Amino acid sequence: MQTLRTSRWMDADLALYRDMVRRFIAAEIDPHQERWRKQQHVDRALWHKAGEFGMLLADIPEEYGGAGGNYAHMAILFEELAAVGDRAFGVHVHAIVAHYLLNQGTEEQKKKYLPKLARGEMIAAIAMTEPGAGSDLQGVRTRAVKDGDSYLINGSKIFISNGYLADLVVVVAKTDPAAGAKGFSLLLVETRDLPGYRVGRILEKLGQKGQDTCELFFDDVRVGADAVLGGVEGRGFAHLMSELPYERIMLAISAQGAIERALQLTVDYASQRKAFGQPLIEMQNTRFKLAEVKAQAVVGRSFVDDCIERMIAGTMDTTTASIAKLWLSETEGRVMDECLQLFGGYGYMLEYPIAQMYADARVQRIYGGTSEIMKEIIARSL
Ligand SMILES: Cc1cc2nc3c(=O)[nH]c(=O)nc-3n(C[C@H](O)[C@H](O)[C@H](O)COP(=O)(O)OP(=O)(O)OC[C@H]3O[C@@H](n4cnc5c(N)ncnc54)[C@H](O)[C@@H]3O)c2cc1C
Repeated sequence: MQTLRTSRWMDADLALYRDMVRRFIAAEIDPHQERWRKQQHVDRALWHKAGEFGMLLADIPEEYGGAGGNYAHMAILFEELAAVGDRAFGVHVHAIVAHYLLNQGTEEQKKKYLPKLARGEMIAAIAMTEPGAGSDLQGVRTRAVKDGDSYLINGSKIFISNGYLADLVVVVAKTDPAAGAKGFSLLLVETRDLPGYRVGRILEKLGQKGQDTCELFFDDVRVGADAVLGGVEGRGFAHLMSELPYERIMLAISAQGAIERALQLTVDYASQRKAFGQPLIEMQNTRFKLAEVKAQAVVGRSFVDDCIERMIAGTMDTTTASIAKLWLSETEGRVMDECLQLFGGYGYMLEYPIAQMYADARVQRIYGGTSEIMKEIIARSL
């Protein structure tokens, strides 16, 4: 198959970096995917190895333990993980937390946590969603109440990616119930041996089975007053709003990677599978379906590349990030469905990657803000 065009933002150094990341993934991730799906989480050792390699916080300045690169380095990692169909390694969420710290944290918080996150000594999660509050985060009920020079946290969170392994959880909590949207803060909670903190069972999901998505419980959990991100109460929502574009572009990149992989896998399969005396790819319906998928892949690639360039330049805006999340995740869902159909019954068998990709793709339209919420945000710009 003719390859999609080379991205404008790539250069010779980044090509070398991509080769290294590809080799790392081939050695340390791809061979373990099936085992991780069964145990429902990756090995902690993977985080240490990825930390040694310098890929965890590739776009964080060196003074904080990062690799001093830019968004292109992270984009390469997300693309290469998508190229092997990995949805277990929660490096995406880890990177988001690092950016909360870098852009919103105090100097002490950055120095304390970023080097540990970079080395994979600490694994990060972000806990916003609760049983009664998902899209509408104003409904968050978890409370953090000032008690002397510490806070007492009570509440529970659900669907938290990296929840089983997380050592550092950024918790969205109400610090002032009377202050409306200004009554929320983000608290940095170190979970190891923390009294009152409990991790529920790893949730059984439709797809992304190697990712440790959990419920978290806080029962009189005590953290220091310095646990408030940025050191000032009431800025939780403002922090969330300013960092969400990073997450949404990441999800768009993963969707684009999955679309390109599905196209390649399906072209290969349709070229060798025969029916009625000819390869499937000779049939007009197959050719037309794959032509449609390729058209969407090429259009998607152009838009994703544009988004990556804006991320590198620091000019990404909320509306564009929401458009990318909406369009790429919706397109991913349609493409997985069309490609699976061309595999016939084999497409329904989990031993065929397309079946896993179909299941893995479904949540892309839900987490990181649902498609409906993306439309709400986009509509505000009309
Ligand atoms: C695998 C997985 C991993 C996740 N990881 C994390 C994580 O790491 N951290 C975290 O905090 N959360 C995480 N989430 C939670 C995820 O972000 C929420 O599930 C999502 O935001 C939707 O919230 P909800 O499930 O409560 O659905 P609801 O908010 O109850 O929505 C239900 C339906 O109503 C629609 N709806 C809601 N409001 C509106 C509106 N105003 N207009 C139109 N339609 C609307 C929604 O679009 C949806 O279709 C994860 C979820 C999953 C499934």
